[in-house]
Amino acid sequence: MTLHIPFDNSYAALPPAFYARQTPTPVQAPRLIAFNADLARLLGIEPGDTGELAQVFAGNRLPAGAEPLSQLYSGHQFGQYNPQLGDGRAVLLGETVGTDGIRRDIQLKGSGRTPYSRMGDGRAWLGPVLREYVISEAMHALGIPTTRALAAVETGEPVIRERPLPGAVLTRVARSHLRVGTFQIFAARGQTDTLEQLTAYAIARHYPDADGPMGLLTAVRDAQSRLIAQWMGAGFIHGVMNTDNCTISGETIDYGPCAFLDSYHPGRVYSSIDHMGRYAYGRQPEIAVWNIAQLATALIRQMPDTETAVEQATAIVHAMPGLIHDAWLSIFRAKIGLASAEDGDETLITDLLNRMAENQADFTNTFRALADGTPRDQFTDPAAFDGWAGDWQARLAREPDPQDLMRRTNPVFIPRNHRIEQMIDAAIAGDYTPFERLNTVLARPFTPQPEADDLTRPPLPDEVVPATFCGT
Ligand code: AMP
Ligand code: MG
Repeated sequence: MTLHIPFDNSYAALPPAFYARQTPTPVQAPRLIAFNADLARLLGIEPGDTGELAQVFAGNRLPAGAEPLSQLYSGHQFGQYNPQLGDGRAVLLGETVGTDGIRRDIQLKGSGRTPYSRMGDGRAWLGPVLREYVISEAMHALGIPTTRALAAVETGEPVIRERPLPGAVLTRVARSHLRVGTFQIFAARGQTDTLEQLTAYAIARHYPDADGPMGLLTAVRDAQSRLIAQWMGAGFIHGVMNTDNCTISGETIDYGPCAFLDSYHPGRVYSSIDHMGRYAYGRQPEIAVWNIAQLATALIRQMPDTETAVEQATAIVHAMPGLIHDAWLSIFRAKIGLASAEDGDETLITDLLNRMAENQADFTNTFRALADGTPRDQFTDPAAFDGWAGDWQARLAREPDPQDLMRRTNPVFIPRNHRIEQMIDAAIAGDYTPFERLNTVLARPFTPQPEADDLTRPPLPDEVVPATFCGT
């Protein structure tokens, strides 16, 4: 059987202002590391043999129907506007409409230089490719909207970072790669016609019921509000919430310096370049609002009556903190076993979180232990848990089946930072067993898997990952 991808491309049909036509740059010796057969089926792909998959997903052979291009966008990076970014190391092969009727992009990342590469080499090394493969698929299994991983290929070529490292290409799948930054660039340049076209395209593709630019803004605000609340519930720190990494679809994108909390602290930062803690765990809701405010600013540029538009957009953005808070509250209610809503619930939740922060409690293991463990053991001072447990038990008495709810809401397994680092080290040494094991276990994060108990353990002192790095 030969590989068949039923391309149905819409972005390539837009005018050239949106992208640069760009073919991937072939690599020396492609070797297939992973192919996500379930996702391929969803996309309507008929896979070929391993050799052919390696050729195609390394960018050496273009599959029939592909119309490769690199997308143009800009964005605020750590609050500073960068007037031009764009896919500096990515090529969109095209789109398919999946068996579920959803249109998705198929994009190679690490496939060589493009007109938007600036100083970069257009390549990725193995570490970030495997990291994104494992974590994005784990996020999907956790029920969090995310880009996904279709394939990973080793290139057989070194890439030069601080030292030579094995090169790799990731095939990323997304509902689209439209970002806040895609709107910003045309707004900043005063290309109003292009901005209008983009708005119409985004509405048609993602939110067909949205009414005009303000309808789109509202829909993106809602999707991002739900997403951020889900990140908070999973203990996920994105780490680089720049506006070019904020999707219109509401999917998580860019797994560069991201990390899951081990012990809980709202100020936790992992990214080595986030010196100010701008993207700390607890700041994610306010940053998401900031990003949506940038989208509002861009969208307004096409509105005929600026004053009314500013008024409307302001109201839409100002409602966002409340929406995130509501979504956060319902997620954390479920995490402590509450299916119903009562007035004191928020106090109960924040009381627990404060005690966890003061007692270095492991975020994932503490919540899971509420359902089927001994949560007090997670606290440096177990009495701190006991001091909360009484109120909680009293509240639980009014719930029908809190255990079941908590087991469905609180995962056993997350991709812990130290396991990701260990997996990458093994892969560099040629051993892909940890990579495959993580994928298998994390595909069922809510199901206890006794043979994988070691993956629930927080890092030992010498395993702690002090900082994460952007995937360049
Ligand atoms: P990221 O940190 O992945 O969000 O990337 C930010 C910007 O830098 C995007 O425009 C990327 O395309 C670009 N970029 C990152 N790494 C590279 C690279 N190795 N070569 C070229 N461009 C890159
Ligand atoms: Mg990015």
